[in-house]
Amino acid sequence: MAGVPKAKAILLIGDGLGDRPVADLGGKTPLEAANKPGMDRIAAEGEVGLMDPIAPGVRAGSDTSHLAILGYDPYRYYTGRGPFEAAGIGMDVKQGDISFRCNFSTVDDSMTVIDRRAGRIVEGTDQLAAGVDGMRIEDVRALFKESVAHRGALVLRGPGLGADVSDTDPHEEGAKVHKCEPTAAGDEAAAKTARIVNEFVKRSYEALNNHPVNVARREQGLNPANIILPRGAGLAPDLRNFDERYGLKSACVAETGLIKGVAKYVGMTIVDAPGATGGLDSDIMAMGRAIVEALESHNFILCNVKGGDVAGHDNQPAAKVALIERLDEMVRFLLDRAGSETYIVLTSDHSTPVAVMDHSGDPVPIAFWGPGVRTDACKSFGERPAATGGVGRIRGVDVMNMITNLMGVQEKFGA
Ligand code: ZN
Ligand code: ZN
Repeated sequence: MAGVPKAKAILLIGDGLGDRPVADLGGKTPLEAANKPGMDRIAAEGEVGLMDPIAPGVRAGSDTSHLAILGYDPYRYYTGRGPFEAAGIGMDVKQGDISFRCNFSTVDDSMTVIDRRAGRIVEGTDQLAAGVDGMRIEDVRALFKESVAHRGALVLRGPGLGADVSDTDPHEEGAKVHKCEPTAAGDEAAAKTARIVNEFVKRSYEALNNHPVNVARREQGLNPANIILPRGAGLAPDLRNFDERYGLKSACVAETGLIKGVAKYVGMTIVDAPGATGGLDSDIMAMGRAIVEALESHNFILCNVKGGDVAGHDNQPAAKVALIERLDEMVRFLLDRAGSETYIVLTSDHSTPVAVMDHSGDPVPIAFWGPGVRTDACKSFGERPAATGGVGRIRGVDVMNMITNLMGVQEKFGA
């Protein structure tokens, strides 16, 4: 394609925005009930449709959905939350690493779990992590970093490791720490990983049981965080760099570690917005300003605003409507600032219906706005209006093709 592309695109994902008709909202969905002139302008001037993040009826997680929307088929590439969570808390996860989600827990000296969350410890986990991070076990390096509260992530790096191993966390209190074992007999790589994990767990107890942080906790009558229990092993997948793949220069503005982790893993620049908390109180406008700023040096911005999903999980229809209206203020700000060659693509990563209080397999609305789009008759951004639009019904893995087509940066398939 001739010339340097000047087009830019913002892919704005309202987490869990999709919903079902709610009796308390007069039979409307939260999107249909909200006053949202910005989103409705995008729908009226743009081309609208429905999107199944993975496939019709499939209940997507936020991680699998974002992978799909970025063009990485999760059925091929998704290996569990571990690698993306580790990347999301700033660990440098490399292809071939085995990653685990972990808890700091409390055990007695017979290795019986007294408290899976170590009294929901909030302070001192960075010092505890420093006591175990970087240890060498055989020819493997064990990298560990604390996350929020009692959580952390473990990354094993070395030759000949496999991910098909069981959890050490017994998932109940009063039970003994489980031995990590290969899930299939004869899997040498998994057997090696299991051996390393069991040694890591043992050494974590030795390093942490009398650690000053835990001595102080015992003095205060708190449960010591005296062991680390890895679970959910995942092999870090080989994902092609996003920018190389699409010929873009991308950045991500997001609130949760999981989404930042997916974005970081595919090579996007992570931009932090102060005040963006991931909750219903989040400073959404700060994210809007971060997007506009990032667009000066990037031509593709992925933004995820988490609050709608939180309201859905909590069965709060009014809070979900209010969140949508606050998100709309950011959408209007972006419309104001958008140059003549900027595309805005507005969608969600899955439905989180308030009545379900979890993710459902219902499709979500999607709208493409910018120069050259085939404006259709759909005038508002909602689940049922979107079903009438020109985009029809697409899947998550179609989205990047549609964006790069509009931006004029896609290679032709064939002659
Ligand atoms: Zn989500
Ligand atoms: Zn959710």
